[in-house]
Amino acid sequence: MAIILPDEPTPIAKVPSTENKTGGWRTFRPIINYEKCIRCYICWKFCPEPAIEFDSPDAHPVAKPQLAKFDSVKINYDYCKGCGICANECPVNAIEMILEEKLEED
Ligand code: SF4
Ligand code: SF4
Repeated sequence: MAIILPDEPTPIAKVPSTENKTGGWRTFRPIINYEKCIRCYICWKFCPEPAIEFDSPDAHPVAKPQLAKFDSVKINYDYCKGCGICANECPVNAIEMILEEKLEED
């Protein structure tokens, strides 16, 4: 049986994710607790947006001295839509999802 492809393929996205700033969708904001972060990069791997970025090793506090040679991570809130996947996947619960309204009050 022949497979008939449409004239205009329908890709999931026609532009790179960096073209769409999804930060405006966010209800909850992920906050990294650097005292807990073990720099495993699982949050980077699972984030569906280009929102988890690498930062220099000394840009943030480090949980253990032996981790100090590894890059730290930070969240680019222009692209973070607040889905919470990073917080769910972090093996040491170093990411807390905080209601944006709560942060605005503080
Ligand atoms: S909340 Fe979602 S979009 Fe934001 S950094 Fe975490 S995984 Fe990425
Ligand atoms: S998943 Fe958690 S421990 Fe790993 S780099 Fe991200 S915030 Fe740090």
